[in-house]
Amino acid sequence: MENRWADTISDPLDACVYASRLLGSEPDLVLHGGGNTSVKMSVPDITGAATDVLYVKGSGWDLASIERAGFAPLRLDRLRALLTVESLPDSAMMNELRCALLDASAPDPSVETLLHALLPHPVVLHSHADAVITLTNLEKPLVEEVFGDRVVVIPYVMPGFDLAKTCATLFPQLVTSRTIGMVLMNHGLFTFGADAREAYDRHIELVTLAEARLSPLEFEPQFIPTVDPVDLAALRKEISAAAGAPMIVSRHTDKASMAFTDRRDLADVATRGPATPDHVIRTKRIPLVGRDIAGYVADYRRYFEEHARPGLTMLDPAPRIVLDNLLGMLSIGRRAKDADIAHDIYVHTIRIIERAEALGGYRALPASDLFDMEYWELEQAKLRLAGAPAEFTGEVALVTGAASGIGRACADALRARGASVIGVDLTHTKSTSDYLGVRGDVTNPEDLEDAIRLGVERFGGIDMVVASAGVFPGNTPIVSLREAEWARAMDVNASSVASLFSQVHPVLRLSPRGGRVVVVASKNVPAPGPGAAAYSASKAAVTQLARVAALEWAADGIRVNVVHPDAVFDTGLWTPEVLAQRAAHYGMTVEEYKRRNLLGTEVTSATVGKLVASLCSDAFACTTGAQVPVDGGNERVI
Ligand code: ZN
Repeated sequence: MENRWADTISDPLDACVYASRLLGSEPDLVLHGGGNTSVKMSVPDITGAATDVLYVKGSGWDLASIERAGFAPLRLDRLRALLTVESLPDSAMMNELRCALLDASAPDPSVETLLHALLPHPVVLHSHADAVITLTNLEKPLVEEVFGDRVVVIPYVMPGFDLAKTCATLFPQLVTSRTIGMVLMNHGLFTFGADAREAYDRHIELVTLAEARLSPLEFEPQFIPTVDPVDLAALRKEISAAAGAPMIVSRHTDKASMAFTDRRDLADVATRGPATPDHVIRTKRIPLVGRDIAGYVADYRRYFEEHARPGLTMLDPAPRIVLDNLLGMLSIGRRAKDADIAHDIYVHTIRIIERAEALGGYRALPASDLFDMEYWELEQAKLRLAGAPAEFTGEVALVTGAASGIGRACADALRARGASVIGVDLTHTKSTSDYLGVRGDVTNPEDLEDAIRLGVERFGGIDMVVASAGVFPGNTPIVSLREAEWARAMDVNASSVASLFSQVHPVLRLSPRGGRVVVVASKNVPAPGPGAAAYSASKAAVTQLARVAALEWAADGIRVNVVHPDAVFDTGLWTPEVLAQRAAHYGMTVEEYKRRNLLGTEVTSATVGKLVASLCSDAFACTTGAQVPVDGGNERVI
């Protein structure tokens, strides 16, 4: 591992921030949590009295982006006094840590704070380095062989007060003049030094030593089988039913995942346990190998019932990682981000398992230790604090015309309520964890097929469809109407939606909570205007299509509704010049023209987006086949 220190920093806390960021930006050391750092300093308190303070990473901060404010300052003498207590439940320990703070507004100190406090050195750096964990997760661990007397080795104890107590006893007995670090079996590495630079150099030195003992890892490119989106959506429905809520299911066919799922001994190596117990929160104790969700849930329930202390509530028993030699890896989470984190962690797990197998055999902790971690009171408290998720959490919407205007506003409104969105548009849009941008032409059925396939591979299924892509061919009286203009309006505004409907239905009917469809039509359907024959007729056609879909799909639990917006001026159709021209035509100012409706209000894309999201919500659970105007009130429509 490369030593990337390239700065001179005199302030000890700034230097610790710098070292923390170096560790945090290296996924082989710190991945989605799993690392913390500290520095001990003598600073005057408010009375001017010199106070020994431990600045330790606060929870809620990532090492990669931590700042000074991310470190919680605690009274060191108080922390060391706590270590003389015989035993302490972890919730009581966390309370004591908060009470030892010098700043009431500081973040909660790391749960590993007492480990930092007991080490005498000014700077302590802790990571869950893959290479070190590999050496500890072996049939015959190689920690002593590789590190000799340079590290103190501590057997596995669950993080929290008990681990700090164990280290407080063992560290002074085992430390020698050559000691520069401490290895916690099945957990990670601590290094320490007189300053951040020294502790960092030692961290990299020890990790490099560990890496040198590992064989190089090269995954061959694999054949990637095609999977029917309907099969994936059906699997997601089963997983969501097991979880008791809609889940995001992401398919991964990276080289490591495909090679690992191709192993003959997959069912054995993959079910020995995670690389380090804190992964359990993200990946559960073991992945599901194959597709027997019911069997996995039954095993999970049985283990819980045999081992849970009285009063404990079972977490949802759905797997978070599925390994299957046709699918590759599926990672699962309540939100797309959770599924992505589970994937990241499991790719590192694969690398650790592969290398450990080459070193004589991968071995993880016994199931009981993993169970204790999964049901740790501090993790349970965190889950309770997180509160109720947004209403569309775990659900997926496909929105056409998502790059701008009403389509984009619909995508934004759905994401704001927790949905992940597949955005289809002629214009490319950037993907994020909860948004997949797919470039495509809605009038091309193959583009729609691709969007559905890519969307289902990314998120697992489709629960909502918003047909928003459309064209307004301009004002043409019927006598001048050209055939191409008519055909184009019908193609984009109506035929493409018919094609989308027929392709998406097999996936939509597998939505865990029932599919929902919203078609963005127009005020021109109930109240057509002269000069808009092609537009009005195409929007009327798509409205009729939606009404028939509402009839045909009700039995599948799919609701189909239509919105009729009017005079939405913040879209690409309406340039400031066109707007000024139209206003002048009516002898109005632009502001007056924009509010030319009964309520005297402005109808924006965001207004339409909110209505569309609401139509997808439970507020409209008993409504299908409806047409809702969003036009500020229009005498001809009313
Ligand atoms: Zn740790």
